[in-house]
Amino acid sequence: MRTQIAAANWKMNLVKEEAEQLMDQLLASAPTLQNNQEVILAIPFPYLTWAQSRLDGLKGYRVAAQNCHHKNAGAYTGEVSAPMLASLGIRDCVLGHSERREYQGEGEALLAEKMDRCLEAGIRPIFCCGEPLSVREAGNQNEFVAAQIRGSLFHLSAEVIAGIVIAYEPIWAIGTGKTATTAQAQEMHASIRQVLAQQYGQAVASQVPILYGGSVKAANAVELFTCPDVDGGLVGGASLNATEFISIVSALS
Ligand code: PEP
Repeated sequence: MRTQIAAANWKMNLVKEEAEQLMDQLLASAPTLQNNQEVILAIPFPYLTWAQSRLDGLKGYRVAAQNCHHKNAGAYTGEVSAPMLASLGIRDCVLGHSERREYQGEGEALLAEKMDRCLEAGIRPIFCCGEPLSVREAGNQNEFVAAQIRGSLFHLSAEVIAGIVIAYEPIWAIGTGKTATTAQAQEMHASIRQVLAQQYGQAVASQVPILYGGSVKAANAVELFTCPDVDGGLVGGASLNATEFISIVSALS
């Protein structure tokens, strides 16, 4: 059975006091997870170790970084490397979020390097992909996303790719309140799985959790997570509200 994941992406939100408050609220009613379920909080770098200690002992709850650098060390002022994250005990890292692709110009080759740095450090990447509205309107979304996957992931071995997480996040649905329909989400997730199957075989493709991201909220989570190829969600805005996020976590089952 594939791992089901509810991942929160706090982005660059919350000063420490606000983060404490949200964490307190989450912990006060954190759902007990089944063996195949995980909750991942992708939070700003300064809070990583604090959040880890808060989640300590809570089965299936993990802390992720939102990014890392593509080199292991060196003269890169202001950057954070995968080995640094690993040395803190961080085991997950979001890579290739559309905001980083847009504002930091991250592309397939750079992301392939970041994938390697994470995997070498023992960190599981959550690789984000997704098309802009113009591509969706032209009907080319499947090929666009397939190219993102080929460009950043296809240098990996079957054994390695079986251990990563993919998050499909149509850019037109991120932070817009406009969610993909269940049909759109399922169709793309099946297409991603088929792209993986063509390269690595069905057995490998069927192991990779594929999350949906883009205005997931309590009101649409059950419907989305019920799609056969949707294994959970990567949640931005709604993850900043404890009640909303806890409902989304509960929607996993
Ligand atoms: C995201 O940041 O990955 C995201 C999907 O944001 P939102 O849920 O706010 O659309």
